[in-house]
Amino acid sequence: MSSPITQFEELALSPPLLQTLKEVGYESPSPIQAACIPHLLAGHDLIGQAQTGTGKTAAFALPLLERLDLTNHQPQVLVLTPTRELAIQVAEAFQSYARHLPGFHVLPIYGGQSMTIQLRHLRRGAHVVVGTPGRVMDHLRRETLVLDGLRSVVLDEADEMLRMGFIDDVDWILERTPPERQVALFSATMPEPIRRVAHRHLRDPQEVKIQTRTATVSTVQQRYWQVSGLHKLDALNRILEVEDMDAALVFVRTKTAATELAERLEARGYSCAALHGDMTQALRERTVDQLKNNSVDIVVATDVAARGLDVQRISHVINYDIPYDAEAYIHRIGRTGRAGRAGTAILFVAPREMRMLRVIEKATRQPITPMQPPTQAVIAGHRLNRFKQKILDTMAAQDLGFFHDVVNQIEQEQAISAQDIAAALAYLIQRERPLQAPEAASVKITDSRPTQETRHRAESETRPTQRRDRAKESTDAAMMRYRLEVGHQHGATPQNIVGAIANEAGIDSRYIGRIEIHEDYSTVDLPDGMSAEIFEHLKKVRVRQCPLNISRLGPSEPERARRRPAGTGERVARSPKSGATEREPRPTLRRKRETDS
Ligand code: AMP
Repeated sequence: MSSPITQFEELALSPPLLQTLKEVGYESPSPIQAACIPHLLAGHDLIGQAQTGTGKTAAFALPLLERLDLTNHQPQVLVLTPTRELAIQVAEAFQSYARHLPGFHVLPIYGGQSMTIQLRHLRRGAHVVVGTPGRVMDHLRRETLVLDGLRSVVLDEADEMLRMGFIDDVDWILERTPPERQVALFSATMPEPIRRVAHRHLRDPQEVKIQTRTATVSTVQQRYWQVSGLHKLDALNRILEVEDMDAALVFVRTKTAATELAERLEARGYSCAALHGDMTQALRERTVDQLKNNSVDIVVATDVAARGLDVQRISHVINYDIPYDAEAYIHRIGRTGRAGRAGTAILFVAPREMRMLRVIEKATRQPITPMQPPTQAVIAGHRLNRFKQKILDTMAAQDLGFFHDVVNQIEQEQAISAQDIAAALAYLIQRERPLQAPEAASVKITDSRPTQETRHRAESETRPTQRRDRAKESTDAAMMRYRLEVGHQHGATPQNIVGAIANEAGIDSRYIGRIEIHEDYSTVDLPDGMSAEIFEHLKKVRVRQCPLNISRLGPSEPERARRRPAGTGERVARSPKSGATEREPRPTLRRKRETDS
């Protein structure tokens, strides 16, 4: 990293904010934060050339929170964003960073949300308002949003606002802000119209652009997978199942994420350890030694902790969280392909972060190719091969005389063939981790963010019967019925239920089946086999401000009929636990070591 500032403590932030940063697990300021925070704290106007994924939200949120007068309940900060998703995300970031600022209020306002609710919240007062230009203009015209006390304006993703045709609205809004306010403009690119807005409304702005030096990294093969949020863990699991790995270094952004991900992988049977800046030097050294001497195969690390790491057996670098800039990326992937060996780097990129991918490609002067996500069938093929190899290795390495006798005995006592016995034993060993691909597509892995398509579907598909037929058409997967704790009385509609589930669980709306809305709850049919993570996440997802608190009711009606064998009573639904464990992948690396020993 190029910035001389390496600690948040050097940035003159107050103890409550420093405490928050400790809690959220940020180890050090990202380059854009190190460069912007001092200017914004000093009250300067600023032009920041930065894309999503660089940490730009904290780069403006932290200093602007620092400058707030919490006793004044008028809006003091206005952030304009191109989309409602970003408005919500930025508002959540403010809320999270302000957790130790008592009485702090942030309000997202965007089109599509009820005006009544927004008016009520605006009357109550908010220190920070984050909104899309159209809705902010509405409120300014109605005088329900008054900007007399405004101290700072942030234009977030200004080039996106230009692209979406909002730039005149931004101009209009800026004209209605007090002349002495501070303006921070963030944009990934600086086309002329953005420069014009900057010229018209910013006073002597400081310009921050993170320079990226180009570098060549020829021995490392680089691929990316477009995936985000909760799906990253599943994607990582798939990679660990199919890639031919010796050891892997997985990069995440925070200390908390390092610990959590290492624990999750450990729970799946991988020999894994975390490496982050909160660990003592001795512990860090021990972890690196464990990686070197094969007692740990995967290390989940933050950038700071992995600086300079030199372990030849690292065959893969997985960028689980995208780095802040190309320089960090180059450093990360330089941890593999050491000593002339071949190395592989895989980058997880959310759709919003695709720009960052292009920046990295430019800096490394190398293409990063999209990877073909391994299908269940490919995964099953790998498992089967490993299983066969394990049998051969065992035969080569172990004295099996006693077990020969056991098989002979069974053969004679029961008059069955050795082949049947072997098949039963294979089943016993592998039943927890099936060697066959699941027959029906279960939950389709997609990105968790709303796409145009899912948004459109959520808007257009409302009738339950229509939904049911579509779901049936698009998949033969077994359907489960779920209960959601939102109903008519909360204002829930099929659209917002579809929207919430499609966007938050990444379940393609085609796979969302019948929805019934009752007075105080609803039911929805979804493909069987939802992962425990998505299920837990969906409990907290809100529709009309109410958490869904999703719970399983059992197989959906048609499914129940299908499962019920003729002449028997109703079958008990498969327990979610067993469903989830059956789908657990079998770890490659761990097993490889077991075989070695
Ligand atoms: P942004 O570019 O603002 O969309 O931020 C991207 C992600 O980086 C968010 O998930 C932040 O929580 C995370 N992030 C921002 N700053 C830091 C930091 N200094 N250390 C670790 N993670 C960070």
